[in-house]
Amino acid sequence: MSASAPPPPKPPALRAARRLRTPRALLWLALVALLLAVQALLVVLTLRYEESLAQERTEDVALAAMGEVRRHAQRLLQGLQGLQRRSDQADAWARNADALLHNQPEIGRIERRDLALRVVEAAESPFRDPLYAHWPRSGTDLEVEAACAAARRRVAPVFARSQFVPLTGGLGVEVVDVCMPMQEAGQMVGFTLASLLLPQLLDEIAATGLGRRHELSFVEGDGTRLARSGTVRGAGVFVAERLVDLPGASLQLRADAVERRPSLIPNLATALVLGLSIGLFVVVLLLVRDSRRRARAEGLLAEALAFRKAMEDSLITGLRARNRDGRIVYANPAFCAMVGWSADELQRADRPPYWPPEQADEYQRRQAERLAPDAEPAPAQEGYETVFMRRNGERFPVMIYEAPLVDRVGKQTGWMSTVLDVSAQRRVEDLSRQQQERLQATARLASVGEMASLLSHELNQPLAAIASYATGSLNLMAEPAAGSAGAGAADADLLAMLHHALERIAEQAERAGRVIKSVHDFVRRRHQAHEVLAADLLIESVLPLVRLQARKSGVRIEVDVVQPPPRVKVDRTMVEQVLLNLARNGIQAMEADTPLAERVLTLRVRLTPGAQGARWVVFSVGDAGQGIAPEVAQRLFTPFFTTKAEGMGLGLSLCRTVIEQHGGAMDFENLPPRPGSADGRAGGTEFRFTLPLQAPRAAIAAT
Ligand code: ADP
Repeated sequence: MSASAPPPPKPPALRAARRLRTPRALLWLALVALLLAVQALLVVLTLRYEESLAQERTEDVALAAMGEVRRHAQRLLQGLQGLQRRSDQADAWARNADALLHNQPEIGRIERRDLALRVVEAAESPFRDPLYAHWPRSGTDLEVEAACAAARRRVAPVFARSQFVPLTGGLGVEVVDVCMPMQEAGQMVGFTLASLLLPQLLDEIAATGLGRRHELSFVEGDGTRLARSGTVRGAGVFVAERLVDLPGASLQLRADAVERRPSLIPNLATALVLGLSIGLFVVVLLLVRDSRRRARAEGLLAEALAFRKAMEDSLITGLRARNRDGRIVYANPAFCAMVGWSADELQRADRPPYWPPEQADEYQRRQAERLAPDAEPAPAQEGYETVFMRRNGERFPVMIYEAPLVDRVGKQTGWMSTVLDVSAQRRVEDLSRQQQERLQATARLASVGEMASLLSHELNQPLAAIASYATGSLNLMAEPAAGSAGAGAADADLLAMLHHALERIAEQAERAGRVIKSVHDFVRRRHQAHEVLAADLLIESVLPLVRLQARKSGVRIEVDVVQPPPRVKVDRTMVEQVLLNLARNGIQAMEADTPLAERVLTLRVRLTPGAQGARWVVFSVGDAGQGIAPEVAQRLFTPFFTTKAEGMGLGLSLCRTVIEQHGGAMDFENLPPRPGSADGRAGGTEFRFTLPLQAPRAAIAAT
């Protein structure tokens, strides 16, 4: 069933990959086949060449051997002629023949015959047994006769056909007789006959060096071997034959090389060819592998480049690279979008077009300083802020972080900058500052609202006092003089009393005015720059307002400022507001449960050592309230968190913001339970905040 189901269609990518792979495999196969063919061809050609060399050597040997045979024959004939000439006396022939036989070992026997071919005299080679010891000389006469008849006719030496002469032990020797007519005074008188031993002749020739690697032999027309040289035996592969023509007869000379057909690695040349072609094959393989690796590396590089480009293009941070002359060599799309000029325009410009014209000279100078070869590079993480101009002329603030641009060999070629458009951030910061200010103003107004009731309470007393003094004064003035006699003295008393009453009225009015002024001062104070102030001044300026509330709640105030008072650099209004908030919270905390006798609010200023030798001024506001419960503590600084019915819950969160803006920190601590407290509850809370010390060092040392 499943076999008949059609195979699922292959995805196109897979098909394409397979299509690509098939020709590549074919190419590989073709390459391997070609290389193998070239190798085989090389080997065959080398073998052929070797064979032809061997054949040529054999031909050369045959040719040389032929020359040698001729030379020996010539020498033999000359020897025989000499023998005839020098043998006038009867015993001279035998001596001379012996000498000749000594000199030429290839001659087996020399005979002197008369015209009837009868042997007159004979000499045997001293190197071997007599030739016809076992075989009658007459057995060869037929050939001798024919040769001598021819010699007689031609009056020249004639070689007979070769004959086999049996020796002892079943051996034998192939012999060629040569017949030379003898003449005396122009008359034919007989013949000199010499028997040339063919094996000995071949040995002589082989001894010249020709027989080192070749077997030399005489053969008949049908290939039958007549004689051969020494012990070297031919392999029958490289054979060369030459016909040696001698007067009257001819001999077939054969040279047969010892070497066989060359084997696969017959010698160094073939081995070299094989080795080289294998080397070539390996080199091709290595090259192919190398090119594949290279292709893979190129692929990876292209991928990495594409990834980097995509990354740079998708960045929302501006990137800009400058060379050592300050010219822009690269700008990413985010930077181009930020300033409004294309990367091309930026790279072509002599001076960055995004420099606001009014600042250009200043920027030029700054750039020259920064790009100077001996300039210390600014740490990249620090960065600097400056103003750039968009194409539409809009100026905008940017934050620039710069780092050296280093090439492959570690040489600095320029600078790489990260450029952040901080205009949005600045807008947000402005907005947040405005909101903060508005919030603080609201909080201040809330305090004012709260204070209004206090004010009415506080103004009540001086106003009541003023009213009663005024009533008293009016009464005094309405009273008739007690008696005319004492009228002068009475007037003086009246005037004194009125004076006293008016003084009181003025005092009380002044007191009321002070109260109103303190509130007025507080409410009207606007944002001021930071100023350096003594800590006690800050405490003193909030004391009137704190006292207002403290008096109403029956709270005593204790102030404890370290002497001499440390100095801090603060936004006065803000820090006073913090002190006021903390004091108000403390007083309110004591209003509920704290016995009147224990209601004490402590305002303290101390100095404490901080990290890295810096010193801090610590302000603390302690109360004797109920302390802060853990669940309240968790949310204490959260805006709008309050446990009070009429509270806004803004005080503490604003306080902390203000202190942190000054570089300080704010925290609080529950104080230990009061002695004799039954329930073990906290004996109050102490809020603390720190501000950096501004005092001169001498002053610090003195404290
Ligand atoms: P608000 O005073 O308007 O409630 P705050 O931010 O000043 O706002 O205070 C938040 C809350 O912290 C208060 O409602 C109160 O519960 C608690 N708190 C602040 N100061 C003290 C203190 N000295 N003792 C006890 N509780 C305090």
